[in-house]
Amino acid sequence: MPNKVTAICPGTFDPVTVGHLDIIRRGACKFQTVVVGLIEEPLRKQTLFSVEERLGFLREALADQPNVSVDPFNMLVVDFARKWHATVILKGLRAISDFDYEFAMAQLNRKMAPEIETVFMMASPEHSYLSSSGVKEIVVFGGPVQDLVPPAVARKLAERFPIRAEHR
Ligand code: ADP
Repeated sequence: MPNKVTAICPGTFDPVTVGHLDIIRRGACKFQTVVVGLIEEPLRKQTLFSVEERLGFLREALADQPNVSVDPFNMLVVDFARKWHATVILKGLRAISDFDYEFAMAQLNRKMAPEIETVFMMASPEHSYLSSSGVKEIVVFGGPVQDLVPPAVARKLAERFPIRAEHR
């Protein structure tokens, strides 16, 4: 029964963007339950926002989605999926540049957990250029991000990075 499937949607979400939310909401239309897995401490990068902040942004932005929950984790993605009895790992693909990394991760995860399928959804065209790191670069130099992130994230970014006089 495909509609009984639980999918996990893992990521750093530092911070969550409208591109992430688009994938999660579209996933919530296709799967019975979507558990957004917040990677607490990513291996290769220092996060701008704390776990609590990233969690708060996600929970607020997804409060209107009854079959979506958010859970932080610090373990293998496949172990997190098993914890939730999920049989799908849901990922968004923006461009060819995402493909190599995601392809390798999907193969490694399949080797560790053949019962779990990685499912890719294409980014919506209007979000295919959007990344958390792009948002952070824009905001540091005083650019507008209110169309790229939920309102609470835009407010917090404006607090953290007040517009400097030279960028006005
Ligand atoms: P990022 O790649 O921006 O650092 P994450 O590690 O939080 O973000 O990514 C989690 C997942 O969300 C990945 O599968 C990534 O491809 C996907 N994703 C990120 N931004 C977008 C977007 N704009 N549209 C669709 N999927 C996206």
